[in-house]
Amino acid sequence: MKFVVDCMLGKLAKWLKILGFDVLFLSKAEDDELLALARKDGRTLLSRDHALLGRAKGLKSLFIESETWEDQVKQVLDRFSLQAEVRPYSRCVECNRPLKPLPKSKAANLVTTFVYERADTFAICPSCGRVFWQGTHFNDMEAKLAELLKKSV
Ligand SMILES: [Zn+2]
Repeated sequence: MKFVVDCMLGKLAKWLKILGFDVLFLSKAEDDELLALARKDGRTLLSRDHALLGRAKGLKSLFIESETWEDQVKQVLDRFSLQAEVRPYSRCVECNRPLKPLPKSKAANLVTTFVYERADTFAICPSCGRVFWQGTHFNDMEAKLAELLKKSV
C-alpha cells in the first residue's frame, strides 16, 4: 500500500517506511502538491488537517486521530489491515527505495565492528548506499517494532 503523508506527520512517515511501506513525505509541501502526489500514484493521503482532507474528494485518505506517533502507526495498520504486509527493514527510510540484500561478507567494511558482530542480516539502499541491519536484542528499534505490531493485532 502506498501513502503520501502530511508534513506534520514526519514520525509516522518514517515508521511506515521502517515497516516497509511506500511512503512519500516532504518536510515542506503545499496542499495542492500533496493532493497531486496522491492522485498521481493512487496514494492514500494521511493527515490531521481537516481542510486538506476536505479537498481530497475522490482520493483515498485517512484522518489521523492521535497526536502520538505510536498510536498513529497503529491506526493506519488497523484501518487498512496491514499487519500481514509489514516487511521491516525492506525500504530505505531516507530515499523510500526498496533495499537490496547485502551478504554479510560485503557488509564488513560498511558497518562498525559492534554491528557486524551482532547483526544477522544486512541490506543496502541502491540509491544512497546506506546499510541497514537486523539483529536481536541490541537495537531499541527492534523492541519498538515488536511492541507496535503486538498491540495493533
Ligand atoms: Zn537510501
